[in-house]
Amino acid sequence: MYGSGLLKGLSITIKHFFEKKITQQYPEERPALPKRFRGSFELIPSKCIVCSLCSNACPNNIISIQSKKDENNKKKLTGYQMMMGSCLYCGFCVEVCPTGALYITQKYENAVFFRQNLNVSLFKDEPEQMLQAVRSEAE
Ligand code: SF4
Ligand code: SF4
Repeated sequence: MYGSGLLKGLSITIKHFFEKKITQQYPEERPALPKRFRGSFELIPSKCIVCSLCSNACPNNIISIQSKKDENNKKKLTGYQMMMGSCLYCGFCVEVCPTGALYITQKYENAVFFRQNLNVSLFKDEPEQMLQAVRSEAE
């Protein structure tokens, strides 16, 4: 019948018009994220034993770790960077961490203006030069 396509389209429009609105007014309204949503990575440096299991498990090889030996000949973490632009969010790195030093949070606002800023340091005391060196290496 002529015009049946139009009526079909209109019926869908009318149906959605009376349904509950699903548009969220971001950023005023925040989405309810699923429990297992993977947003950003965080590190507890005091828990890290510099075993490098996380960097070895990473399929894209995006984790760089720096350390030095202390007076007791034990490795001490001095730097920890991730090139987030190449992260698959597979979670292997977190899964293998034996101490729970590395974990995933639900922080999802990770947009940056420059690509090199996706290379982030998870070690807050890390000297800025170290992060810059890793960023320029990755360019
Ligand atoms: S989530 Fe996967 S790709 Fe990303 S850093 Fe961890 S192991 Fe590497
Ligand atoms: S696996 Fe965990 S403890 Fe080992 S280097 Fe990575 S973050 Fe540190």
